[in-house]
Amino acid sequence: MSGIHHVTAIAGKATRNYDFYTRVLGLRFVKKTVNFDDPATYHLYYGDEVGHPGTILTFFPWEHAAEGRGGGGLAQQTAFRVPASAIGYWTRRFVERGVTHQAIERRFGEPVLSFTDPDGMSLALVGAAGAEAEAAWQGADVAAEHAIRGFHGVTLMIEDAGKTAAVLRDVLGFKDAGTDGPFARFHASEAIGGIVDLREAKGFIPGRLGRGSVHHIAFRAADDASQATIAQRVRELGLQPTQQLDRNYFRSVYFREPGHILFEIATDAPGFAVDEPVATLGRDLKLPPFLEGRRKEIEAVLPALDGTGPPAP
Ligand code: ZN
Repeated sequence: MSGIHHVTAIAGKATRNYDFYTRVLGLRFVKKTVNFDDPATYHLYYGDEVGHPGTILTFFPWEHAAEGRGGGGLAQQTAFRVPASAIGYWTRRFVERGVTHQAIERRFGEPVLSFTDPDGMSLALVGAAGAEAEAAWQGADVAAEHAIRGFHGVTLMIEDAGKTAAVLRDVLGFKDAGTDGPFARFHASEAIGGIVDLREAKGFIPGRLGRGSVHHIAFRAADDASQATIAQRVRELGLQPTQQLDRNYFRSVYFREPGHILFEIATDAPGFAVDEPVATLGRDLKLPPFLEGRRKEIEAVLPALDGTGPPAP
């Protein structure tokens, strides 16, 4: 079992981020929590109905974050899977809602509709073969036949693709899947969240992390034992994984891959239903036990997200 677990990015205003991902893209808001390392900031999670690995896009919204700049050593684009027949629907939806998007192109034979979120994050919808048979979250105003199924994959812009390719193959269980123009594709065992494309950018200006940038990419480990095996392979390549950190919804080990992008190895368990039922995922602010004592102080500084939280008395 291999593939992307989640992608975490940096946003500006939390309410604008929430509106875009739930109301424009129709993702489910699966968890409202805080950045465990910076608890005055939200950590917002979007995904499918239960937040399965491979569907989870998360954000640290820092309202005054400087704009990021694309370039070497950063993720260039994050792509979602939709049925190929849905691309026309999404193009019309983006026109109607004023979402900045590009003309449809083909990559590896699949239609790709590139667009940006309100913070300038580079995203795409890919008409992927087989997506029509995958489950879709139906709580938004996007019909199941058009809805996002989860991640297609990510494109990384790397100065020297060879070493990053070795990490994908030898550490994370991806396989070579050919090239198309500047892209070298790697395929995991899972269809959802199963693709990493490397775009080698020798001599390209390095990117700058900020609003609209991907902060890190997490890859799946079935359990603690396979995570430990993957971390050992990271060490064997001369890279330095962190100790395991408990992120409440998964357990994480981080390392910086040779192209300078922060990678994480995240366990599938326990998942988002560990502290609230699936039916009301995302409704209440959830805090890890070590922050519960500071709940009042934390709630006082977080902006309200319209449409979440308990109904008014
Ligand atoms: Zn993460």
